[in-house]
Amino acid sequence: MSEKKGLLIVLSGPSGCGKGTMVAEILKRGDCAVSVSATTRAPREGETDHVHYHFISREEFERRIAEDGFLEHAQYVGNYYGTPRKEVEEMRAQGKHVILEIEVQGAFQIREKCPDAILVFTIPPTLDELRRRLHKRGTETEEVIEQRVARAAEELPLAKQYDYIILNDDLQDAVDDFGAMIRAEMLKPAYQTERIGEMLSC
Ligand code: 5GP
Repeated sequence: MSEKKGLLIVLSGPSGCGKGTMVAEILKRGDCAVSVSATTRAPREGETDHVHYHFISREEFERRIAEDGFLEHAQYVGNYYGTPRKEVEEMRAQGKHVILEIEVQGAFQIREKCPDAILVFTIPPTLDELRRRLHKRGTETEEVIEQRVARAAEELPLAKQYDYIILNDDLQDAVDDFGAMIRAEMLKPAYQTERIGEMLSC
């Protein structure tokens, strides 16, 4: 059977609500890959170039926008973030389910450009808990933490427009829900049509 193109899964949710930890667990499945975004934000302590992000200058980012190098891009709290088009297409062609960990403006751009994309929104139990997790992470100033909590409050109502909402209270439950979502998506006719076509052509 030919290599099946992987799913394209957008994972959004407030910064600090544990998306990164969820993705690290999901990658242990082996059939998923995460897209490494480009950003103009400075690396945080412990972040490595080309692993966590491709850290680039504003000039370089704007040059790549001009040459249509991003599948989507957006500004978030003063910095650019974007998904490199070529890397995503290559990983999907290899049969991997590609996860884009991106914010809402980018998610809706992806829905326009790639109608087969699945949009998943992850939520914290409460905004107070989100604030607590951001403090615990300790990588942002008080001012940036409050900006991120305010941004989360703006974004939460948009979760209704996503295909799935996953509560990230207990990490293992959230990862199990994500796995169940992938399984359900793989049972949909859009994903299975190719298999039926191949069966009939034998
Ligand atoms: P952080 O600075 O905390 O790493 O990311 C800030 C926000 O930008 C998060 O919500 C994250 O999901 C989002 N983000 C990361 N990469 C991209 C991207 O390539 N495109 C868009 N639109 N958002 C991104």
